[in-house]
Amino acid sequence: MAAPSALVLVCEECGEVPHRVLSGRVTGKDALVFQGTVKCSSCGRVTSVTYREDRPLAVPVVLSDRQLSERRTIEFAPEEVVAVGDRLDHEGHRIEVTSIEVGERRVESAAAKDVRTLWAKRMDRVVVKFSVNKGNRTVPHEFEAAPDEEFEIGDIVDLGRERAVIHKMHVGTTTLRRGTARAEDIVRMYGKVVRERTSR
Ligand SMILES: [Zn+2]
Repeated sequence: MAAPSALVLVCEECGEVPHRVLSGRVTGKDALVFQGTVKCSSCGRVTSVTYREDRPLAVPVVLSDRQLSERRTIEFAPEEVVAVGDRLDHEGHRIEVTSIEVGERRVESAAAKDVRTLWAKRMDRVVVKFSVNKGNRTVPHEFEAAPDEEFEIGDIVDLGRERAVIHKMHVGTTTLRRGTARAEDIVRMYGKVVRERTSR
């Protein structure tokens, strides 16, 4: 493989800057290893270096989008850790890792190099769960939102025939009584029906 013409390396004088490659070669199977002589583009210092970069791995992923699922691959650095619940960008979509297979087992997290298959779901729309208190009963509602849509305690949500004000949100393992959260992070919201005043 041909040596690169430049590499971003750390110069003792100048920090992380591009270095021109004067000579060298690239070897390696699991990683790209460059050995050669480089020149700092900032101060002109010439040094010999060994530079190693892990080749990205194409990890198979079964990606589901509601009823449909398709097999794709997604690139990771070999040592990169992937965990159930991770949100990733993939071909312009947000996806969430739902399951990880290592050998014959399902695990909560693993280094990318150990993963046999990932399962993930598309998150273009997420379902927000909203329990609404209507006086003497609490009624569960669900609606769809964009993953990054923000909801704030005190916001009024239109549920069609009625509207409800958010007074509490479960986000991860915490409970919010003020502030905002993104739809993709909300486990459930709690609210109260807003009494409409009609003057006649
Ligand atoms: Zn330098």
